[in-house]
Amino acid sequence: MNFRQLLFVLWVACVTSLTAQNQIQDKMPPELDKVVNAFYATKPPAVWLIQPFVPLGQREAALLDQFKVRLNQALIDYSSIKAVAEMKQVYYGYILVCAYDFQRNAPVCPGKEGDQAATNSRLRVDVYTEPSRRTGQIRTLIVYSRGHLAIPSIANQEPVWFAGRFLHELLHAKQDRDGSPGARAVPRTPVWAADEVEAYDLVRQVLDKGTKGRYSQAIRRIVAAKRADSLQSLYRSITTNDLMAIDILFGTASIDETTNRLTQYLMDIGNIWLEGKYSVMAVKQYKIQNYLTVTNH
Ligand SMILES: [Zn+2]
Repeated sequence: MNFRQLLFVLWVACVTSLTAQNQIQDKMPPELDKVVNAFYATKPPAVWLIQPFVPLGQREAALLDQFKVRLNQALIDYSSIKAVAEMKQVYYGYILVCAYDFQRNAPVCPGKEGDQAATNSRLRVDVYTEPSRRTGQIRTLIVYSRGHLAIPSIANQEPVWFAGRFLHELLHAKQDRDGSPGARAVPRTPVWAADEVEAYDLVRQVLDKGTKGRYSQAIRRIVAAKRADSLQSLYRSITTNDLMAIDILFGTASIDETTNRLTQYLMDIGNIWLEGKYSVMAVKQYKIQNYLTVTNH
């Protein structure tokens, strides 16, 4: 290759990556709004366990302990999934569970400063109460940000979904720890979205394990019946009954928990359609685009 050819190749690579970075993201069809609203209308409000937590009494400390047990148990229950086995190696027994004090905007952890549990921990999980959600301090239901994870103190969280959402965010913690390019990328760029696709694919495996494969089966049935020739026409054809047919596989969820479920269902409907159309190698790029479309609002 001579210098002129090399320049051309570099130019093409540059333009291609610029196009990928600035690609116009599709929106979901507006017809879906009504369908989604009808789905939300079936959901009860959340019951919050304690509000607020602080100062930590015996009851609160016991509650935090229950959360700790459930988080560690999720790592055991789903360790047949490769990514979960890898996370178990790093985090099992090393999770410090604290209460999030929304008034001071700081965690309150059981035990004293410099406590064995605190010094040995590899991840802090803050259990937050309803006021921190109402005041907008915490916007996403379960979230990993700046080195720690936040989970809501909502009562009766459905076990499969609780594990799924926790493992999704724990994967982001691990991606960050491992220096994944997506963890440091600009939000909503393809590199950043690749980590999200990985996390959504992981949750699908968790939901399948929790329902003995019935989750993906239900979505495959819906996708096959639609015979759609594009993602847009597929999403246009989704009905509230389709969403219910998937959601019935799990225990009930509050309105607060429904957004996460809905995004996952729509992502997987698109991803399963894409998997039927493209090779394993090619499908990843399309899933990234699908993620950016489903979450473009
Ligand atoms: Zn995520």
